[in-house]
Amino acid sequence: MLLILLGPPGAGKGTQAGQLVEDYGLAYISTGAILRNAVKEGTGLGQKARQYMDLGQLVPDELVVEIVKDRLQQPDCEKGALLDGFPRTVEQATFLEKVLPDTGKKVDCVLLIEVAEEELIERLTGRRVCSECGTNFHVTHKPPKVRNVCDECGGALYQRADDSLETVKERLEVYKNQTAPLIDFYEGRNVLARIDGNQEIESVRDQIKGTVDKL
Ligand code: ADP
Ligand code: ADP
Ligand code: ZN
Repeated sequence: MLLILLGPPGAGKGTQAGQLVEDYGLAYISTGAILRNAVKEGTGLGQKARQYMDLGQLVPDELVVEIVKDRLQQPDCEKGALLDGFPRTVEQATFLEKVLPDTGKKVDCVLLIEVAEEELIERLTGRRVCSECGTNFHVTHKPPKVRNVCDECGGALYQRADDSLETVKERLEVYKNQTAPLIDFYEGRNVLARIDGNQEIESVRDQIKGTVDKL
């Protein structure tokens, strides 16, 4: 099975991903997490990607598609995979269609999580992320049990540089211009499922589960 989480920054893709991966035994592929890791480690990829990420812009397609191509060939993807934050342009989606047949997979469902814009800004500026395991929290909507400490692993929480108000606004623009066209793209392929992301985390999870169980 191959699932894609689509939606604007802050929609709750990362938050929903953990449960989905567990419930359906999927490999988790978050291009954002892979890129942030590359920046942290200071690899060649990280050095190239950083300038774009800091500005809230997309990393060039040719860098990102290589990451995904390699990742999909790893053994843990045999049972299936969940893509979070990829594809983000029509070019990336077209690339995915080209390489998937080699892996014996097709896109089974694109879960589009829709959330009102004011709420997205609230969610992103209040987001806190674990520096060790990447789990997402929110200062009010999903606070950790101990302030600034990860519930899962005890790691320190931090605020992503690109979650500042100014960069958040840029990312929302980038989403509208470059990523939103994927809604029509996948609707045309009859694999799009719309999820109301304005609800509580549990309710969004139930909607997603209801959709995936029917596949
Ligand atoms: P969000 O929480 O906003 O959905 P991500 O963690 O998915 O953010 O991505 C963070 C940044 O990493 C993006 O703003 C972009 O610079 C880069 N990035 C992640 N995935 C992609 C992709 N598929 N194509 C291009 N850039 C990407
Ligand atoms: P994305 O991966 O789509 O960028 P995240 O999963 O990181 O989004 O969620 C963004 C922020 O909003 C996080 O701080 C998260 O705790 C919070 N959040 C996620 N889902 C909900 C929800 N349904 N209601 C309220 N806050 C949420
Ligand atoms: Zn953690």
